[in-house]
Order: sequence, then C-alpha cells, then structure tokens
Amino acid sequence: MRSDPADYELVAPGSLSAVVSLLAEQPGQWLPIAGGTDVMVQYAAGKLVSRKLVSLWNLSELRGVGVTDDAVSIGAGCTYTDLRQHEVVEREFPLLARAARWTGGIANQNRGTLGGNIVNASPAADSLPALLVYEAELILVSARGERRVRYLDFHTGYKQTLLAADELILAVCLPRHLAGYLAYSRKVGARNAQAISKVCVAALGRLAGDVIEDVRIAAGSVAPVPVRLQKTEQVLRGKTIDAALSQRARETAMGEVRPIDDIRSTARYRAAVVGNLVAEFLRQITGGRQGRLSEVLARWNGLSHEESALEILDCCGSSAWSRQLAAGRPFDDELSLITAADEIWNRLPPQDWLQAFSKHPRIGERKTPQAASPQSAAWSAQEQQDVTAAGEAIHSALAEANREYEQRFGRVFIVCATGKSATEMLDIMLSRLRNDDATELRAAAEEQRKITNLRLKKWLQR
Ligand SMILES: Cc1cc2nc3c(=O)[nH]c(=O)nc-3n(C[C@H](O)[C@H](O)[C@H](O)COP(=O)(O)OP(=O)(O)OC[C@H]3O[C@@H](n4cnc5c(N)ncnc54)[C@H](O)[C@@H]3O)c2cc1C
Repeated sequence: MRSDPADYELVAPGSLSAVVSLLAEQPGQWLPIAGGTDVMVQYAAGKLVSRKLVSLWNLSELRGVGVTDDAVSIGAGCTYTDLRQHEVVEREFPLLARAARWTGGIANQNRGTLGGNIVNASPAADSLPALLVYEAELILVSARGERRVRYLDFHTGYKQTLLAADELILAVCLPRHLAGYLAYSRKVGARNAQAISKVCVAALGRLAGDVIEDVRIAAGSVAPVPVRLQKTEQVLRGKTIDAALSQRARETAMGEVRPIDDIRSTARYRAAVVGNLVAEFLRQITGGRQGRLSEVLARWNGLSHEESALEILDCCGSSAWSRQLAAGRPFDDELSLITAADEIWNRLPPQDWLQAFSKHPRIGERKTPQAASPQSAAWSAQEQQDVTAAGEAIHSALAEANREYEQRFGRVFIVCATGKSATEMLDIMLSRLRNDDATELRAAAEEQRKITNLRLKKWLQR
C-alpha cells in the first residue's frame, strides 16, 4: 500500500529538552527519526505505523564524541561518517570504525546514525557485535532523567529493547581499557557495503605468547539478537592456540549459535560460517602477533642503551637486570630475548632480586608500592584480576597471611598470580611460610622469573 505524505506530521523542536518534553507529554505517540535511513524504508514500503514523527537530526546534544581518560562517549546522533573520521574511534575502537565503513554506501553513512542502528534492533546490524565486544554502555534520557544500561542487556528479543516509550538514547560509552588487544571482524554477505550480512563477527584477543589471556567474540545474524559467544570464549581463555584448540572453538561456536533459515541464507550455512570465522580469528591474531613482535623488537634494538633499559625495566623491576638485558641487544625473536632475560635474572645477587620484589603490591591489595611505575601497577592489577572477585573471608585470610609472611621474611610475598584464584594463592602462601629463608628466597625469585616472562611477552605485543 502506498503512503500518502499528507497523513504524516513531522516536527523538529530543535533541542533535546524540547524533544524529551514532547515524548513525556504524549508517550508512544511520537516516533523519533534521526537519519531516517530505516524509518524512510518503512515509509516507502507502506509499513510505517506511526503518523507523528519528531526529528532528532543534528541535535547538538546527540552529535559529539567526548574523550576522557577512562571512556569515549559517542553521541547517539553521530553518523557513520562522524565515526569514520574520529581519530580516537578509528585508533582505539577499530571494530566500530570498520563497521561504519561497511554500513551501506557513502550517502547512507552521511545520514545513518549509531543510535538509529541500535534502536532499529536488527540482528544483522553491523555495529552491534562491535558494541558487544567493547562492553558498551548506553545512556538513556527522558524528561524523568538519565539512566545507564549495559548494551549487552539492551536487546531483549527480536526487535525488542529496554527503551521506554518516552526515552531516547543519548550516548554510547566505550571503556578505554582494551589497548593491546588484537582486533578482528568479518562481514559475510553478498558484499561488504550495501548488503545485509548473512553472518558478521567482531572479536578481540589479548595474548601472552601463544596463550590467550582474554578474548571476546560477538556475532550478528545468528540469533534473534546479536550475541556474545560466551561458551566459545570460555573454551579459549587461558589456553595455548594450536590446531586442536582451534577445532574445539569452531565446534563450540557452531553449537552455541541459534540461526534461522531465511531468504538470505540457511541456518546450517550460518552456523558453519561462524565456526570458520572463529578459526580465522585465531589464525589472524597469531599472525598479527608475529608482525607486532618484530616491530617492537626492531624499534627497541635501535634505542640508546639508557632508553632501552628504562623501557624494559617495568617487566622485571630490577635495574641491574634491565641494564644487562639492554646491553645484550640486538635480539631477533622472543625466544632469544626470554632466554637471555632468564640467564641474567638467575645470575643476579639477592639485593637485585629484592629490588624487583619491592615493586609488587601485596596479593589481594590494590594499593601499589611507591616504587612501582604506572605500567607496573597496571600489569599487577591484570595479574591479580581473579583475586578482585574473591569474597570478604578470603581477602581477610590473605591479609593475615601477608602480615605473617612479612614478619617472618621481611619482604612482600611473590607469586606468579596470572590464572590463579585467590584460594590457590592463599594455599601457596601458607605452604611457603614453612620454608627456611634461603629456600623461600629462591622460590620467590623463580616466581618473579615467571612474572617477568609473561610481562616481556605482553610488552612485545604493545
Ligand atoms: C541503502 C541502505 C543500506 C543499509 N546498509 C546497512 C548495512 O550495511 N548495515 C547496517 O547495519 N545497516 C544498514 N542500513 C540500515 C540503516 O542505515 C542503519 O540501521 C542506520 O544506522 C539507522 O540510523 P538512522 O539514524 O537512519 O535511523 P532512523 O531511520 O532515523 O531510525 C531508526 C529507528 O531508531 C530510532 N531512533 C533513532 N535514533 C534514536 C535515538 N537517539 N534514541 C531513540 N531512538 C532512536 C527511530 O525511532 C527508529 O525506530 C542500510 C539502510 C539503507 C537504506
């Protein structure tokens, strides 16, 4: 059925407060229209039920990108062109910038907005898997005030959202703690632009050597809403990438999604594609790691002795170790660097070991020692991330054991915390409290050697 323009009313109040007042006065009566690239398609098809439209186009309150130390806040009215042209979005959130490039053609990118893509709630929308892996939060606004919801919770079912009838999306907030993650995305469709995807995947991975320290994978067009592949992530986290792991991840992903048959594709094909894309993601992050590693080493090999020693210091904390390692340059690969790092560490006298120990916070404590640099403090927080989730009782037991350890040995307890739960670390500390001083010093030095190895691998990925 053709739509008659005379049946429709379009108003443009010109400010956010005027729009939310209108929505509050007559909730459910007015349909917001931003770029109109979805709404006008419905109109042209004679399927636009709402007769009263209120324009959000170019409202300044919805249009900016704000950058703070912790987060980037993207106004819901930002267009795909705005996203593509924003330097911080392009550099730190490449999956979102890439999705913007893949959405429609240039004309569509000049009009279509991020807020419109979210509220239109298509399971095939290109920007939504990126928002899932970046753990975006949405700020919703109405005459009643603002509220924040996780994007993960926003789409509650096919074309269903948490948005109330009088609410708008004001902004999309992306936390900035994902530096050092390798990014991957793929849109499988007739072509990237101007085509709705059959399947799209966005993923991030952080590696220490070949071990996947953290991973986030999301997919579109495989369920009523875009989804995080949490079972697949679980299979991968903490594991070494090899052919067997890749096969397990592929099978888990295929079993985890719930695609449907439709005019663009079959459910079986979509599940197989998701499995293939997960395997491709793993291949790419391993390859990307090799490239990045050579770049970091080549640059470091070319620095002055002082600069190179200073840069590597945070990996261990001993200045004698970092000076000797810098003097051993050039290194061609990770293995030769780590072998040299281990040899130097094992030869150092105890006072240099103690200097490295002094840079660590106590297990279970967020407060970092004054001697620790911001990078060392950030690595310590990552290493102890599983302790943060532990309950009150474990925290008090750790605090008590830390006190006893320090009274007995006169230094902070050192354990390689990566991948260990708070309970495991408490057990290790209680057992090592039975050591004599010389045995305990060697045990702590061995743990520091493992910490240094992991930090060197992270540093090589920067
Ligand atoms: C030719 C063409 C190609 C396309 N290609 C792609 C593609 O490749 N990938 C893809 O994902 N999409 C694609 N789209 C869909 C579309 O461009 C996007 O979904 C776009 O982001 C919608 O934004 P908009 O501002 O135009 O939304 P509008 O059409 O203005 O609105 C869409 C919906 O969102 C609501 N809305 C908008 N802004 C807000 C807000 N701030 N708060 C609350 N509600 C709001 C509206 O009420 C409406 O329900 C394509 C569309 C066309 C016409």
